[in-house]
Amino acid sequence: MSMQAPAVGAREQCDLLIRNGYLITMDGNRTVYARGAVAVGGRLIVAVGSEPDVLARYAGKRVIDARGAPVHPGFVDAHYHIPNHLTRGVFPDAATTKEYYLFYARWYDQMDAEDEHASGLAAGLEMLRNGVTCYMEGGTVFETDAVAAAAEAVGIRASLSEPFLWDTGQDATLTNMTRSRPETKRCLSQLGRELRRNRSPEALVRGHVCLFGSGSASDELVVAATDVAEKNGAVFSQHQSTSVAGTAAHEALLGRHPLVHFAELGVLRPHCAYTHMNVIREDEAEVVVRSGMSLIWCPAISMNWGFLGSGRRRPQPDLYRRGVNVGLAADVSKFGLDTSPLTAYLLSRDVGDATQLAAEEVFEMATVGSARAMGIWDRIGSLEAGKCADIVIRSASLPEFQPGHYLVQNLLLASRGKSVDTVIVDGQIVVRSGHSTRVDEGVVYDTARRRATDLGRRIGAAPVPRWPVVEAAGSAGMQAQ
Ligand SMILES: [Zn+2]
Repeated sequence: MSMQAPAVGAREQCDLLIRNGYLITMDGNRTVYARGAVAVGGRLIVAVGSEPDVLARYAGKRVIDARGAPVHPGFVDAHYHIPNHLTRGVFPDAATTKEYYLFYARWYDQMDAEDEHASGLAAGLEMLRNGVTCYMEGGTVFETDAVAAAAEAVGIRASLSEPFLWDTGQDATLTNMTRSRPETKRCLSQLGRELRRNRSPEALVRGHVCLFGSGSASDELVVAATDVAEKNGAVFSQHQSTSVAGTAAHEALLGRHPLVHFAELGVLRPHCAYTHMNVIREDEAEVVVRSGMSLIWCPAISMNWGFLGSGRRRPQPDLYRRGVNVGLAADVSKFGLDTSPLTAYLLSRDVGDATQLAAEEVFEMATVGSARAMGIWDRIGSLEAGKCADIVIRSASLPEFQPGHYLVQNLLLASRGKSVDTVIVDGQIVVRSGHSTRVDEGVVYDTARRRATDLGRRIGAAPVPRWPVVEAAGSAGMQAQ
């Protein structure tokens, strides 16, 4: 290898060249280039490697110098409820789980397309600015076109599904909703509705199949949803075995452990990605490992509601070690969208050494794992030639990157979202110097605040501050700054 760059004429032109990056590729060997470069042509990555190699072959129309900062594939959030995004700080923090779900039910009942669009813009913008370049919605968007338009506007990759498919009336959480009655016929007629988005392989917003899950669907509906997704080369997802109490109720209904039941029903297949899976017994672990299905772990919300109880060994690190593909997700907005990897890391360690995950393993879940759970690992999740150019460039000039011996840990555990400088999705620069290049962030915030305040008032939810708040002169009630 010659260190001398050949004449420009010998080099191929590419649209964008990222040089001088600490390149975390997440390729098959998990190669890290301490001084690497990425060449992007159109929507795709055309070359990845050490800087001298890539610069010898490519000249960029535009060049970004990463200044030694980490460059990595965008994180993928494999389960996020877009319509919940603006509930942050609107629902009282002290509410119980039951009260929270009552607020959610009213919130969903009251939302219109503009509320969902505003949620989609704010959520997408926040994800991108935290280095998340793709999300899979958790099956709760009514006006999917409005949320798809929001994703395209901010420039984030997404996958949407039909909302609130359930037919047994067994779900104990959101049954007060009036917009989605438990009816098999309604659900069967809607199944696969969003898969039309997959006709173009280049679509930024795709579709998957989703049931609400956790025992809220009949066997007939679970089989139909699993089949529709498989027949169309899409992913099937549902909530499953989230809490001790919820799983006990599902088990009482079935007369056996839920995952064992699903295995016997023949619905645990490689295109399935079930969310949560906090309560998994050994007989269930065995069928999950055998099935080739994915698991989407939402560690922060699991802690928030004590779904498994504190100090108990979580099944997700064990299943991951046994070969199950594990993705990561935030589920809700409460904790910010850079929280999942750190929380997964910490949760894996709070019962001692046996299940502790390394930063690299959690990094893998947030990229490759979530991309596989979404069924698009062939397109995203790693920096490799031929994959979509979904790339995050960090800023290394932060105290959290010091002393900088091993930047993977600094990035994941210390600097997190605040170190995001530039984000590229589908070959387009959508965040530069930490801000959106696509939307006026102030307008997104204003709209989100207005919509959230108004919706909160209509459903009777408002923050209850513990400390006395002296309102600014002339202001009327809650006005977030
Ligand atoms: Zn969820």
